[in-house]
Amino acid sequence: MKAQMLEVEIKEVKEYLASLEKQLQELQENCDHHFQENTYYETCLKCNKVNSLYY
Ligand SMILES: [Zn+2]
Repeated sequence: MKAQMLEVEIKEVKEYLASLEKQLQELQENCDHHFQENTYYETCLKCNKVNSLYY
């Protein structure tokens, strides 16, 4: 069944994506940020974390 194969693949990709997001989150939590300010936001040069400066 093609549909079942696709479902399995979708599940695997979602799990992979979740693990990547977790890795990125951990990296950004452990970073001693070095922010570079732009007009409306600041970006960390080390971990790429973005903070909005205007809410
Ligand atoms: Zn950072």
